[in-house]
Amino acid sequence: MWDSHCHLNLLETEPSLAVAEARQGGVLGMICVGVDLASQAAVMALAETHADVYASVGVHPCHLDAQLPDITALRAWAQHPRVVAIGETGLDYFHEPQAAELQKESLRLHIDLACELDKPLIIHTRAAAAETLALLRHAGERAGVMHCFTEDWETAKAALDLGFYISFSGIISFKNAEDLRQVARAVPADRLLVETDSPWLAPVPHRGKSNRPAWVVDVARCLAQVRGVALEDLAATLTANTRRLFQIP
Ligand SMILES: [Zn+2]
Repeated sequence: MWDSHCHLNLLETEPSLAVAEARQGGVLGMICVGVDLASQAAVMALAETHADVYASVGVHPCHLDAQLPDITALRAWAQHPRVVAIGETGLDYFHEPQAAELQKESLRLHIDLACELDKPLIIHTRAAAAETLALLRHAGERAGVMHCFTEDWETAKAALDLGFYISFSGIISFKNAEDLRQVARAVPADRLLVETDSPWLAPVPHRGKSNRPAWVVDVARCLAQVRGVALEDLAATLTANTRRLFQIP
């Protein structure tokens, strides 16, 4: 399987060690996701030095710093051959309700860039599902992924109808996440992804520790249990889904 969303450059451990550990655990590849332009060079360096690490380019809604991202810089990074997606972008009214208008404008800018370059979007949404979905109706044919999904089935269904994949993180293994596990049961197999979002959200049995890409296996194991399928079969499906969405050969 792949870790479809991690922040290798933000881990507690040295990124190369984390990549090696993930490989040893059977992780076939990782998408190192950009959160702001200041750290994009570090993200790209990791994708350039590891054959199984790819990158995305974007400015997280909580990293806007009261201004719209520089579209020229975003576009330049996005044309790098190791970049497979635009994001993460989206809306977060939980952490930054006062920045709603700016976040919407930034999301629109990322959507336009994804359409222009025919790349999938990596979407973060928190306490803003309806407005996120409304804007995503303008996403391109390749749509993208709803990362670290924690919303209800109605939202999942609406995103699936727009062509989006649904990515589950370690949150599905948390004791109080029964509603989310119900959603994870209902998503069609060919639209599922898993991720760590490391260094955050370590899955059971590592909860509370600093997360790392190797532990995506624990997320997948939980998802396999929830769906009543063998881990090996699910892993093959997840790999195929990741490669299809991000067009990785
Ligand atoms: Zn993230």
